[in-house]
Amino acid sequence: MLVILHPNCTVAEVAAVEDTIRNMGYTPIPVPGPSRTAICVTGNKGPVDAAPLTRLAGVVETISVTKPYKLVSRETQREDTVVAVGDVRVGGDAAPVLIAGPCSVETESRTLAIAEGVAAAGAHLFRAGAFKPRTSPYDFQGLGLEGLRTLSHVREQTGLRIVSEVIDARDVAVMAEHVDLLQVGARNMQNFTLLRALAEVDRPILLKRGPSATLQEWLMAAEYLLAYGNNQVILCERGIRTFSDHARNTLDLNVVPAVRELSHLPVIVDPSHGIGHRTRVRAMSRAAIAAGANGLIVEAHTDPTTAYTDAQQTVDVATIAGIVSDMAVLASLEQVSTVRPVVRGTAASA
Ligand code: PEP
Ligand code: MN
Repeated sequence: MLVILHPNCTVAEVAAVEDTIRNMGYTPIPVPGPSRTAICVTGNKGPVDAAPLTRLAGVVETISVTKPYKLVSRETQREDTVVAVGDVRVGGDAAPVLIAGPCSVETESRTLAIAEGVAAAGAHLFRAGAFKPRTSPYDFQGLGLEGLRTLSHVREQTGLRIVSEVIDARDVAVMAEHVDLLQVGARNMQNFTLLRALAEVDRPILLKRGPSATLQEWLMAAEYLLAYGNNQVILCERGIRTFSDHARNTLDLNVVPAVRELSHLPVIVDPSHGIGHRTRVRAMSRAAIAAGANGLIVEAHTDPTTAYTDAQQTVDVATIAGIVSDMAVLASLEQVSTVRPVVRGTAASA
């Protein structure tokens, strides 16, 4: 349930609402918004009795939140969340962003050359993995701490903000020193220990969708981050498991308008892992932006065939420039970034 207060309510009125929610055995979580003051009731297992809340001073109304996810729901927050990564804004009316870079951090000179290349091509953020979750224990696992230090040097020398994957809750503090946007990989989407650790860090999170996760499971994973204190979350569709054998995964672009309807969080698309072939990445990048994605994350390299990992799906810098120009054209399409109106549920409060 969402408790809506007058826009000019007093601090004491807000405190009284929060106390009442606690006395009812639930947890109040304030929901920021430009046009209203709202408090979300969480922790209830069934319907919430609105009567003790509606009679309090300052309360305008209570609204039932019909979905099992509360804080990420558009029922709870109508306005799009805009996530800031340095001065790059993701979500809302911001132009779609392009995150680009190699799958893995490589030698310092190669990594820096790639960063300079994708920046010159128009990418907004640099992504490279220092810790790589690999299906085989015999495959390259990433350069670890040395890779993180390389990423910091790239940030110093190019000014680009850094995106990189965190695979272990014990690494969160050190990752936060070197990384501006912490990526949770598809395999870790439901690693709840990791999500809870990331909820406490002062960094935005890029939450990839698990290869077999439903939209609801994905949003519930995001709910962990918000419920434990971090509302700077970007969702990322990266393809789901498929019977098709012509692509690495099936890029589920159906999910993009669905996310935008159901959640206020920004959603970006990873066409590289979604399709798995470099020659097809640009086509799916266009499709993702046309579907309403708030951005893309694309694996790119100055010498793609020699990339340490995921070479087959890694594009060259010229392709990044092509994607940048496609994005500019598509962003001007009417309604690409239009948010669907919210239909409020009428089911019992939850
Ligand atoms: C990656 O981004 O390189 C990666 C491992 O992606 P995912 O978690 O989507 O498989
Ligand atoms: Mn990869």
